[in-house]
Amino acid sequence: MEHPGVRRVRGLLGAGKEFATTPAEAASATSVHVVDPAPDQARGLVLVVEDEPAISELERRYLTHEGFGVHVEADGRAALDAVRRLRPAAVVLDVGLPGLDGISVCRALREAGDWVPVLFVTARDDEVDRVLGLELGADDYLTKPFSPRELVARVKAILRRAEGRPSARPLQLGAVGIDPTSRRVTRQGAEVALTVTEFNLLLTLAQARGRVVDRAELLASAWGQADYAGSRTVDVHVAQLRGKLGEDCPIETVRGVGYRVRT
Ligand code: CA
Repeated sequence: MEHPGVRRVRGLLGAGKEFATTPAEAASATSVHVVDPAPDQARGLVLVVEDEPAISELERRYLTHEGFGVHVEADGRAALDAVRRLRPAAVVLDVGLPGLDGISVCRALREAGDWVPVLFVTARDDEVDRVLGLELGADDYLTKPFSPRELVARVKAILRRAEGRPSARPLQLGAVGIDPTSRRVTRQGAEVALTVTEFNLLLTLAQARGRVVDRAELLASAWGQADYAGSRTVDVHVAQLRGKLGEDCPIETVRGVGYRVRT
């Protein structure tokens, strides 16, 4: 029987690994809880930036339960470092942080050309006004107090919107560069000629930022309709992409599920 004060988190960590935190540990933590950011079928990594441990712990718990990898930071500068290092799929960003506040963090990201989806968490109406008025490319905001279910729904929504949004920002996946505007792909700086379908497949996977995309979803986004081609068609086009991009091809097969890119 488990100690009544101990809560175990399994699943994302894989067989044989687990960790436990007590409420006391969670309350005393000031900086980081890490859940392995690369589990096979995770929805992607969410960076939670929140200086109140009780709130970040709640956010971490609910997002983890939904299959997200979660990394927590408690101050703005550490959050900026974490975005650069971990390349999260989304950021849940408290506005009221010590030192560098959430708005400054978002501004710094945007100035650096990073348009990672951001869900702001605000405590007061005047913070909402600032978030909305600055046109920081914030994808949504949530006002405290909020329900954890609402948080999860908003995170999923900003991820969906981010994937559907035509991104003008060139993407770099290892040695492979993708420019969504000109629809050019380069390998180690040299242009690679792709078919329309190959390009759409690669862009769809790249914009999912490491999330596993199943074949049905790839068919829908790369071909525009779900039943145009069978799922084997996806495999054939992925094989062609691998042929053209060689060992630099960032696409990985997730057996029985679909594909994702290494980020
Ligand atoms: Ca705060």
